[in-house]
Amino acid sequence: MRVRHKPWAAEKLAEHPEYVVTELISQKGKWQESFKNEAPIHIEVGSGKGQFIVGMAAQNPDINYIGIELQTSVAVTALDKMLEAQLPNVKLLNTDGGLLSDYFEEGEVDRVYLNFSDPWPKARHEKRRLTYKSFLENYETIMKPNGAVHFKTDNMGLFEYSLGSFSQYGMIIDQVWLDLHASDFEGNVQTEYEEKFAAKGQPIYRVEAHFST
Ligand code: SAM
Repeated sequence: MRVRHKPWAAEKLAEHPEYVVTELISQKGKWQESFKNEAPIHIEVGSGKGQFIVGMAAQNPDINYIGIELQTSVAVTALDKMLEAQLPNVKLLNTDGGLLSDYFEEGEVDRVYLNFSDPWPKARHEKRRLTYKSFLENYETIMKPNGAVHFKTDNMGLFEYSLGSFSQYGMIIDQVWLDLHASDFEGNVQTEYEEKFAAKGQPIYRVEAHFST
């Protein structure tokens, strides 16, 4: 995703420790403490401009949500949504979702969301896809036993690849949607990318899968 560089973004993120956590390693194993409750933790890797994670937090006050976004200039837009919504159950990490086990303890997370992840269509970039086996290993490590990954995309190639990657890893595929918006799925919170692609008439693919251990 090409993004306009915002030189002030890092400073703005640093000004809001109530939403943006910067001391990540010291939080390992203490995320529920930082939310001051014992509710389950759901994370979104690649949370972009934050519409999904903030919308989910508004819809589900009994779940703690953490959005993880690599690009500072994008994360700052998610922060704006958090400042507007003023919800106690959402936080933002401006970091690499490939390093999850550095800052989440084993079994600390209940669910991982991936939404419209970069497709990296070239075979030589397979390892960068957020559904590549090394990412799945990381998700499994930080999740409770039988933890689930919920994945949405408009990209048929990435969707097919991900179904294969999940099943080769030994994950159980629970449900697949080939046209989410035409289905009876309730409570869908749209992401910014989802709105854009759905407006062009593109079907949205969705899968729920869980680890077998
Ligand atoms: N999920 C959002 C949506 O649906 O509107 C954003 C989708 S955008 C195509 C993918 C986002 O994932 C980008 O903002 C990118 O910076 C972020 N991203 C890619 N790899 C990442 C990683 N390893 N860790 C955290 N964020 C990542």
